[in-house]
Amino acid sequence: MSTVLVVEDESAIAELIAINLRHAGHDVVLASSAEQAQHAIGGALPDLVLLDWMLPGESGLQLARRWRADARTRALPIIMLTARAQEADKVAGLDAGADDYLAKPFSPKELLARMRAVLRRKAPDALDEAVRLGPLQLDPAAHRLLHEGEAGARELRLGPTEFRLLHFFMTHPQRVHTRAQLLDRVWGDHVFIEERTVDVHIKRLREGLALAGCARMIETVRGVGYRMVEAGDEGTVDGAGEGG
Ligand code: CA
Repeated sequence: MSTVLVVEDESAIAELIAINLRHAGHDVVLASSAEQAQHAIGGALPDLVLLDWMLPGESGLQLARRWRADARTRALPIIMLTARAQEADKVAGLDAGADDYLAKPFSPKELLARMRAVLRRKAPDALDEAVRLGPLQLDPAAHRLLHEGEAGARELRLGPTEFRLLHFFMTHPQRVHTRAQLLDRVWGDHVFIEERTVDVHIKRLREGLALAGCARMIETVRGVGYRMVEAGDEGTVDGAGEGG
């Protein structure tokens, strides 16, 4: 389900990592320099970056710092890969904004475990784990959405884009997301799709949720974007005027 950008200039290591990640079900994008990595990020944000420290030209460390300083890439999950195993290096890597640090050589099993831990913390929508918010339960692996009402659980059907959109909202509740952020995280592209497209799919998502009386869980935050809230929260109804 998740896309991983592997930034590594040694092709043998890059290939080995790519084989293991693909085998584990990840999509892999390879970059052999900071410049290539920046280019890849410019088009679509991956779910996670494996970033080698020693690269020709700009180092992985400098690249991590630059991404952390940019609003669009600030929250990007990054694991630094390095042959340098000294404590001071590890501290420098984490200071530059890496979420974790793995010294070469490492086993594919350890890499996957670390990736899972970072994703769970920073991008749970990239995992296939079931998620619950209020009366809604979404299972990405089974591609199923359940609503638990007084009459019992009922399955709601959504289109594929609405399902992904809801998955992202449910794993990042309460926060306001701009249309550009939603395009990055749900569509994987912020450049070639119009922001208006987001509004179209929000409308469809609300229509799907309205069948279970949950349309109000998706709020419009005027001039900013959208936010998902748990039904029943106080002061969360947008536009007021509930009318009893
Ligand atoms: Ca290297």
